[in-house]
Amino acid sequence: MKGFLEDANYSIGLLDEGATLGDVIDNYVYEHTLTGKKAFFVGDLGKLLKKHHQWQNVMAPVKPFYAVKCNSSPGVLEILAALGIGFACSSKSEMTLVQDLGIAPENIIYTNPCKQASQIKYAAKTGVNIMTCDNEGELKKIARNHPSAKLLLHIATEDISGAEEMNMKFGTMLKSCRHLMECAKELEVQIVGVKFHISSSCKEPQVYIHAISDARCVFDMAVNHVISPLLDVYFPEESGVNVIAEPGCYYVSSAFTLAVNIIAKKAVEYDKFLPSGMEQTRSDDEPIFMYYMNDGVYGSFASKLSEKFNTIPEVHKKYKEDEPLFASSLWGPSCDELDQIVGNCLLPELSVGDWLIFDNMGSGTLGQQSAFNDFQRPPVYYMMSFNDWYEMQDAGITSDTLMKNFFFVPSCIQLSPEDSFSTAA
Ligand SMILES: *Cc1c(COP(=O)(O)O)cnc(C)c1O
Repeated sequence: MKGFLEDANYSIGLLDEGATLGDVIDNYVYEHTLTGKKAFFVGDLGKLLKKHHQWQNVMAPVKPFYAVKCNSSPGVLEILAALGIGFACSSKSEMTLVQDLGIAPENIIYTNPCKQASQIKYAAKTGVNIMTCDNEGELKKIARNHPSAKLLLHIATEDISGAEEMNMKFGTMLKSCRHLMECAKELEVQIVGVKFHISSSCKEPQVYIHAISDARCVFDMAVNHVISPLLDVYFPEESGVNVIAEPGCYYVSSAFTLAVNIIAKKAVEYDKFLPSGMEQTRSDDEPIFMYYMNDGVYGSFASKLSEKFNTIPEVHKKYKEDEPLFASSLWGPSCDELDQIVGNCLLPELSVGDWLIFDNMGSGTLGQQSAFNDFQRPPVYYMMSFNDWYEMQDAGITSDTLMKNFFFVPSCIQLSPEDSFSTAA
């Protein structure tokens, strides 16, 4: 299978000093308003550099392997590759993507506890040795297909969000580890380490404390003050253990903004739609609005199905500060009742054709093959501020592909469609 990077045709707008992300969004809103009002992403690749600096400041001894499934869009992979970090891939197609960028096999880990034999063979053929494993059947499969693999035992973690339950899908219980290690010895496959996965949405220090004392590191900045001292205790430098992490959302979430268009609108009166707490403030004749957008959980909001999503979008059009606000709910375009993006929020009255801007949308569907055939992927426009670009050059972080893809965006962005920003290259 070919990685799509080979025929990727992307460019990165380099913003003149004075031009902002807001200007870029304004420009594309204008352009798409004229050409069918498709949803679109704007990705600020400079944010990835900032995240990497932050990582180096706080988590320096822990080598990051970026979880490709979070966002495999070409601009993201290219920048992260230039930064020299590793990649955690969950499938052959993800491995191919990063191999096409010239990433060395020792900087790739195959991190899927349930792998297809053919994909294990592919890893073996291309020299990807580090992979994860959490059961005996998988050990046997690996022994047959990649005898020189170096395995990380994937141990289960608690999932605090779901009460006291363990994260059941993947991971072995600590008490089964001895048995698995004995099996590995018999099969002559090498276990070189331990791994666990805690979703970055988990902010419970207790879960990390438990997981690290069971094994080793994970990375979330929000609980870093818990993690770093623990690593010092359990895995001090002299222990000779290398600690790595698989950050995903951490790198990409904040870098992408999604603009969606309102395609339908309904005013409703049913009390059941009243947001809790609003009963007293609302007069009976005040409408409640339901807005339908041209992207939803079967598209760019897919991660909304599994995670809490509390983002209230920004209204793109200008409105007066004293404009009345109405209880509103936001829905995706499918007929599915699950396709609700925001349950209730206060917004000025919007019209069909207006745009809403969602921040922090960098992790989820970007770059992946869509599971739903009729979902048209929103186009992605990359940008970077001149300062970030300069910093990147200064630090020697670059690649030929990256350089080829930059184009310059003047600070007074032209708003006429013929002369638009995307063709300014
Ligand atoms: C998705 C994934 C990650 C990244 O998770 P985040 O919550 O985005 O940080 C790390 N490791 C594995 C194995 C994953 O599947």
